[in-house]
Amino acid sequence: MMETDSKNINITDAEWRIMRVIWALDTVTSRQLIDVLGDSMDWKPATIKTLLHRLTDKGIVKAEKDGNRFIYSAVMDESRTVDLASKKFFNQVCAKKVGSAVAYIIDESELTQDDIDKIQDKLNHKQAVEQINCNCVPGECDCN
Ligand SMILES: [Zn+2]
Repeated sequence: MMETDSKNINITDAEWRIMRVIWALDTVTSRQLIDVLGDSMDWKPATIKTLLHRLTDKGIVKAEKDGNRFIYSAVMDESRTVDLASKKFFNQVCAKKVGSAVAYIIDESELTQDDIDKIQDKLNHKQAVEQINCNCVPGECDCN
């Protein structure tokens, strides 16, 4: 399988719900997912199976046959997947606007002292660039 990177991390809102349960339980059967999410999300078993198939096709979930059923598990751990999905999001934004988006996220997030120490440490070691070149296709932004 191709190494998963931020370019092919493409997880829909519904698929994130499935992933959260898979990470929480390590391995799941579709039955377990139906038990956990069926009522709370008002999803039919067929919906959950479709979401699982899509995640497997995308290489985000792997399926192993166990008798007459499949055991599903995540290909990557949760924090790596969240990091790559965040990176993918920021790659879609004009490079000049990333800094203020990061500042906004920090402002809007609930953070522990540990989180703040970690972010502060990153900032202390961050090498500033002279200027950021807009990565946009002409017409995509008003930077120029
Ligand atoms: Zn731009």
